[in-house]
Amino acid sequence: MKVLVVGGAGYIGSHAVLELIKKQHEVIVFDNLTSGFEDMVSEQATLIIGDIRDKSALDAVFKEHNDIDVVMHFAAKIVVPESVEKPLEYYSNNVEGVRVLLESMQEHNIKNIVFSSTAAVYGEASGVCFEDDPTQPINPYGETKLATERMIKWVTQAYGMKYLIFRYFNVAGADQSLKVGLKKDQLTHLIPVAIQALIGLREKLLIYGDDYDTEDGTCVRDYIHVSDLAYAHVLGATYLKDGGQSTTINLGSNQGYSVLDVAKTVQKIGDMTYEITERRPGDPAKLIASNEKAKKLLHWEPKYGLEDIVNSDFEFRKTLKK
Ligand code: UDP
Repeated sequence: MKVLVVGGAGYIGSHAVLELIKKQHEVIVFDNLTSGFEDMVSEQATLIIGDIRDKSALDAVFKEHNDIDVVMHFAAKIVVPESVEKPLEYYSNNVEGVRVLLESMQEHNIKNIVFSSTAAVYGEASGVCFEDDPTQPINPYGETKLATERMIKWVTQAYGMKYLIFRYFNVAGADQSLKVGLKKDQLTHLIPVAIQALIGLREKLLIYGDDYDTEDGTCVRDYIHVSDLAYAHVLGATYLKDGGQSTTINLGSNQGYSVLDVAKTVQKIGDMTYEITERRPGDPAKLIASNEKAKKLLHWEPKYGLEDIVNSDFEFRKTLKK
């Protein structure tokens, strides 16, 4: 397959590129490098620097590579508090960016798109989420993803194109090569923050609330290794190319772990201090993916568990510290 990976220099996109290359697919990366890194793009991929809102730049890519089988989209802004402060930037990048991408794809007869969406579209839903559950985002980030999902559905239907929408749950970890990983300075996600507390890059882990309606009172989430997630994209792209119908699929493990479970898993590696503090606004008590659909349609199942995820993030973060 020939695949255009939009946002392929970022955390998840660069893992998708690695998995595609492992399976001998031809990969072109298109990225504006605002949150991606050139050195995270595999040397076996072609990197084109550009912004998806720049239609002429995209047109040039599709003109030169008119045999692209599938486009994968990862070029989104994803920080919830930032989306609350700067919603217009989120609508511009996340929604308008995909509108321009779809327009350029349609004009160049490129038929298939794999789109990264999020469990944030389910909003306050508490418990196990199924793909046909109601969607009700509670922040601009989730809203932009849902708006884009809906746009993709209408556009692909109108122009004889196909989509696969993946809704990610809590993605973490790093590829075994340790060349790629989540390397932002301002990390907010639980696992990298806990690892930073473990290796002395912050004093302690603050646990946001222990009075939720869960077994130990801390929030429960479904953690998925980024390499498992990336591999699902290879299967998804193949599914579309081989004639699969447009659909939406959760990517998670069917299993929930509490914040305290995660903290204790990190403490198996070494000393890590944590402290219980106030709840963080907007955190649903429990979000777990039903992954039955991914198993059935794509024959996909996660290979890695929580310990693997935590250990791989630890190994990666040590390489950054050097
Ligand atoms: N969390 C925490 N301390 C942190 C970061 C996160 O207690 O420093 C909690 C957060 O309140 C949520 C869970 O860990 O219950 C997962 O949060 P994260 O930001 O990793 O992902 P989210 O589920 O919000 O997308």
